[in-house]
Amino acid sequence: MTFRTLDDAPSLAGKTALVRVDFNVPMEGGKVTEDTRLRVAIPTIEKLRDAGARVALLAHFDRPKGQRVPSMSLRPVVDDLEMLLGAPVRFAEDCVGDEAKAVLADLDAGGVVLLENVRFHPGEEKNDPAFAKQLAELGDLYVNDAFSAAHRAHASTEGLARLLPAYAGESMRRELDALDAALGNPQKPVLGIVGGAKVSTKLDLLKNLVGKLDRLAIGGGMANTFLFAQGVDIGGSLAEKDMADTAREILAEAKARGCEILLPLDLVIATEVKPGAAARTVAAGEALSADDKILDAGPASVARLTEAVDASKTLIWNGPLGVFEVPPFDAATVAVARHVAARTKAGALTAVGGGGDTVAALHHAGVADDMTFVSTAGGAFLEWMEGKPLPGVEALSV
Ligand code: AMP
Repeated sequence: MTFRTLDDAPSLAGKTALVRVDFNVPMEGGKVTEDTRLRVAIPTIEKLRDAGARVALLAHFDRPKGQRVPSMSLRPVVDDLEMLLGAPVRFAEDCVGDEAKAVLADLDAGGVVLLENVRFHPGEEKNDPAFAKQLAELGDLYVNDAFSAAHRAHASTEGLARLLPAYAGESMRRELDALDAALGNPQKPVLGIVGGAKVSTKLDLLKNLVGKLDRLAIGGGMANTFLFAQGVDIGGSLAEKDMADTAREILAEAKARGCEILLPLDLVIATEVKPGAAARTVAAGEALSADDKILDAGPASVARLTEAVDASKTLIWNGPLGVFEVPPFDAATVAVARHVAARTKAGALTAVGGGGDTVAALHHAGVADDMTFVSTAGGAFLEWMEGKPLPGVEALSV
């Protein structure tokens, strides 16, 4: 898909850009505790300031459900943003109307204002055209830099893009380029790794991937369901036995679409999930007792998966291969992640990961910075992996 970026925008000098960012940061006692989401917005803000534009930042925080909830104000973000930007940031108590207009009228070229939580207005989540129009009145152009909010058709993520010239911000552009390189227009062969707890939460994702990938490795708790569906003894492992038919359908679909499925060959089992628990490795198919739990993939599975990585040019990864939070059941996830990182650093692989626990697992393995791209977009990343159109991205396409 093609979309406009800021490089396509005609002269920005003196214009007011309404920039949708994701400032839904972790906060405790009115202080930002983790500022990644603020940092990723900086390149777009700087680019606009350098071009002489006024920057009005639109964001949501938490779930005020259309009410003004003081504890969900974006005001505490201002100090952190000023520090990161090295420039003053004004704050407007409302994101539309006279208050917002007055602050903007007072802003010099290159100035930045953060507008109060868009979700204080019910029209935001309803994508109310009248509310989108009120937002549009504030600026000359719209920039969306919040991929993580792009799966929602809200006024500030979708409606507004229909009313003003709309562009992808720098962070949005980076994310879309990475996703395109991983699944849109990847270099083949393409390998997927999907792990995590349950099949039921990743059905759409699995169905979409088997139609697109050359190989798909299934790991984690969801692999148990697939093994069970094939008659493998899984003892007392986490599994969704009622999903066995669905698992078999996915395997059949993969076969029909020419996608090779890699299930664990050997399993690390223990009777308790606690750090340092006594674990043993068995071949898939061996008899287990009712209190045995499969908690990780074994070394033979890791060896075959790293070979699959070596045979691939592109990797898309979502979900850990075992209970990575509890060593030693992190071993397969860590070993494969490190191998992926080494191949990526060597220039042999494009590796993109994301969604929920994947980011934490890659950090745990110490390789999050060595991947081609790690998406922190959560729900939006998963919906994109499911092949669903993202309204906020669609609205930017030309
Ligand atoms: P998800 O959010 O679906 O990606 O699932 C991630 C969670 O799956 C992590 O908390 C892992 O501990 C868990 N998980 C991975 N493998 C297993 C397993 N074999 N048994 C139980 N839980 C697992």
